[in-house]
Amino acid sequence: MKTILKFGGASIQDADRMRNVLNIIKQYADKKPIVVVSALGKTTNALEAILNAWFKHDTTWPNLLDSLKAAHLSICKDLALQTTNAVEYIFDSLQEYLENTLPELHAYDQYYDHIVAHGELASTKLLVSYFNERGLACEWVDARGIIHTDDHFRDVNIDWEATELAAKAKFGGDEIFITQGFIGATANGHTTTLGREGSDYSASILSYCVDAEHMIIWKDVAGVMNADPKLVSDAIVLPHISYREAVEMTYFGAKVIHPKTIKPLQNKKIPLLVKCFLNPSLPGTIISEQEPRESYPPIIVWKENQVLLSIQDKDFSFIAEKHLTSIFNLFNNHRIHIHLMQNSAISFSVCTDANSRINDLIHDLQLQFNVVRNEGMRLLTIRHYTEDSIQKYLAGDEILVEQRSRTTVQLVTRKK
Ligand code: ADP
Ligand code: ASP
Ligand code: MG
Repeated sequence: MKTILKFGGASIQDADRMRNVLNIIKQYADKKPIVVVSALGKTTNALEAILNAWFKHDTTWPNLLDSLKAAHLSICKDLALQTTNAVEYIFDSLQEYLENTLPELHAYDQYYDHIVAHGELASTKLLVSYFNERGLACEWVDARGIIHTDDHFRDVNIDWEATELAAKAKFGGDEIFITQGFIGATANGHTTTLGREGSDYSASILSYCVDAEHMIIWKDVAGVMNADPKLVSDAIVLPHISYREAVEMTYFGAKVIHPKTIKPLQNKKIPLLVKCFLNPSLPGTIISEQEPRESYPPIIVWKENQVLLSIQDKDFSFIAEKHLTSIFNLFNNHRIHIHLMQNSAISFSVCTDANSRINDLIHDLQLQFNVVRNEGMRLLTIRHYTEDSIQKYLAGDEILVEQRSRTTVQLVTRKK
């Protein structure tokens, strides 16, 4: 049975980190793992900047692309690679594409996927050259031939049947395979992406499709913790959590794992291990079907940059089911996710991300409703809360909306 290893951008951001990744993979070499890799460091952000410059005919894009290529080649040099052709080819073909394509307004999302995917193509070419030169035989696999998707560019749905067929056919062999996270392709061969930070999800799709024995994702933290250690200095590692807890945490915004990662694993009961690439001897966190024997400590998650919308009928009538139906339809049409909702007799409140699509949503809502918008909100979610934990993490902020169940409290707050 297969082992899937997934390495994110931070784990391969420079030559030393790549050496470290090679050592980790060597420890799993006899299991012939499928290795899923993100783009180097902040490459995806850099490619977004190149896309945006090119899209608005800003002539700086060739310089930005040159710097990104140079950064990759400088790592090749640090690793003393003999051959860099494969890496150079990725950037040269992107340059050729950008020079020969005139951007059309309506196709932004499709360009996005085509252009941004070059980060993962380059990182995997680089790693395969490096591993092979250091004596670790491995095969580069183009994930676009495996992960089949629809054409909802930047936020695709997976064609599970086609993906499973392709994955089983390709990964049946007894080799080490290196493939890209984050990317796939439509039936017509157009490149697609699975959404930012989607490489965890790619690894879990492949785990599902090949009936993996387990999947290990390598992060810069000691495991899944009860809060982001960058925000909470006394956060602790959770040695074992259930799929259910992981889904809840990531759904509410815990950024350690992409929220879509858990479901495919849960469906086939494939255990997920979250381990630290900086210290592989640490036990990390195991995520599986069973609930742990010990009870969970309070688990704290923040979502920043939230908007609270209060929606009322224009003639002050009750918010009835017919209003809710049209409100939900508008949210769905504008692809805006609701993080929390609450209604009173005449008002319906929704907390959501402040993204670029929100103005169009509000415009459409205002044809039928009065809408009050509160910007700069934070959504604090505490699973397994105690009164002390609420006071501690609220830190005196003003509460605009509060919702409690037996296990979870959610607070929409504003800094005082
Ligand atoms: P990747 O390298 O796969 O992209 P990320 O950087 O996206 O990984 O995820 C790791 C980061 O997630 C950590 O550095 C940490 O700051 C953050 N994080 C957020 N919430 C948690 C949590 N509950 N437990 C551990 N890390 C968390
Ligand atoms: N490289 C992509 C991103 O930065 C996907 C990933 O890293 O998971 O969003
Ligand atoms: Mg990442």
